[in-house]
Amino acid sequence: MIEDKNPQKTSISQLGEFALIDHLTKNFSINHESTIKGIGDDAAILDFKDKKIVISTDLLIEGVHFDLAYMPLKHLGYKAVVVNLSDICAMNAKPTQITVSIAVSNRFPLEALDDLFAGINHAAKEYNVDVIGGDTTSSQKGLIISITAIGEVDLDEVVYRSTAQDTDLLVVTGDIGAAYMGLQVLEREKQVFLVNPNSQPDLDAYSYLIERQLKPEARKDVRLLLHALEVKPTSMIDISDGLSSEIMHLCKQSQVGCNLYEDKLPLDPQFINVCEEFDLDSTTVAINGGEDYELLFTISINDFEKIKGNPNFTIIGHMTQESEGIHLVTRANTKIQLKSRGWDAIAED
Ligand code: ADP
Ligand code: MG
Repeated sequence: MIEDKNPQKTSISQLGEFALIDHLTKNFSINHESTIKGIGDDAAILDFKDKKIVISTDLLIEGVHFDLAYMPLKHLGYKAVVVNLSDICAMNAKPTQITVSIAVSNRFPLEALDDLFAGINHAAKEYNVDVIGGDTTSSQKGLIISITAIGEVDLDEVVYRSTAQDTDLLVVTGDIGAAYMGLQVLEREKQVFLVNPNSQPDLDAYSYLIERQLKPEARKDVRLLLHALEVKPTSMIDISDGLSSEIMHLCKQSQVGCNLYEDKLPLDPQFINVCEEFDLDSTTVAINGGEDYELLFTISINDFEKIKGNPNFTIIGHMTQESEGIHLVTRANTKIQLKSRGWDAIAED
């Protein structure tokens, strides 16, 4: 499906480790004052003065977290950075630096790694983070990418998962479920392609969904939007595994319950159409699909007026006492207990 636009193939084993690192990292630039020393020595040096430092790491394994059959390497590089920056944003912090470590088999030519690093560099520029180091090694099989993201924050601005109150409102940014349906579309096209490699898929009707899957964005704007509204979330998490699972995390760690309202879920029209096409229930997909990288947070009921009607935010529910449990309230006004994967009807109401 992905055309080979790089017929030239340079073997990385010929290049040697140091030449490879030099080649891959030559386009990175340093823009933050807090970066005293980036790539080039045994370690990087950072100086955050009076700010606190936030750190998060992710590991991405070929065949487990990504499939190169439909994930172009440039997109993979971009996404690998973005998913890490999303974790920094979920602490209400500002991403500032990343490190990039890769293990790669010699099945990958240099041109493939160039694509991967073009995506990484694009994300680094887009999100204004300095690439300050990493590691490059060989692997027996496949590609492994580990990115560590670093951010800065004032201690009184940090937002944890564990501090929601039982009277708070539950808010989500953007819309949800689209990345999962994008993956379904890509999986389907991959199967079609395996049967008929000459097929030219027309993916216009799925463009938003595919973009959400292949080129997700971290909500770095939310910290600033909320700051301007003078709202500090009482708890926050990013949506990587799925809304339902993230709500469970907030509730468990904050020792509260939650009512989530089916009719409030922010769904894109294309998402609704394609769920119908795949004969999937859009609510089930929206709450269980992952990789949206939107932010889910709670606010004090006193901040309701500041958030109400804002196109960036949707109030989708409210927290309750822990003993009330964690439920989806359906359009038919029945309560269904939320599970981290899938959900079951229970005999209430
Ligand atoms: P060491 O032998 O101490 O591990 P390396 O020779 O691996 O050092 O790395 C040299 C420099 O290049 C270091 O600053 C390191 O952080 C950086 N580096 C190595 N691989 C990468 C990579 N994939 N991305 C960014 N920087 C890298
Ligand atoms: Mg090294």
